[in-house]
Amino acid sequence: MDKQAVFAQVANVEERIGELYRELGSLKHKIVELIEENQKLQMENENLRKRLSAAEKHEAEGASPMLGEGYDNLARLYQEGFHICNLHYGSLRTEGDCLFCLSFLHK
Ligand SMILES: [Zn+2]
Repeated sequence: MDKQAVFAQVANVEERIGELYRELGSLKHKIVELIEENQKLQMENENLRKRLSAAEKHEAEGASPMLGEGYDNLARLYQEGFHICNLHYGSLRTEGDCLFCLSFLHK
């Protein structure tokens, strides 16, 4: 039996296991990111659905479309944690206040 060849084979398998392990780590990382992204989108979606059904109810009651009411709605949307600036409109604010949103509100 060629010992050298067996050792070489073991080293080779060890290396492949190391690679697979690293790959597994990066896949786990991606899964965590996807779960976080999914949670964020679910929250956004839920909030937008609520706003939509409130707007539809409002309209069905014969009032002017709520989405056109402007400033108050935008201010409330911002308070609820969403961007109202052109850059990120409708997406969840994840880092506290947004300067673009604030400058828009204070126009
Ligand atoms: Zn913003």
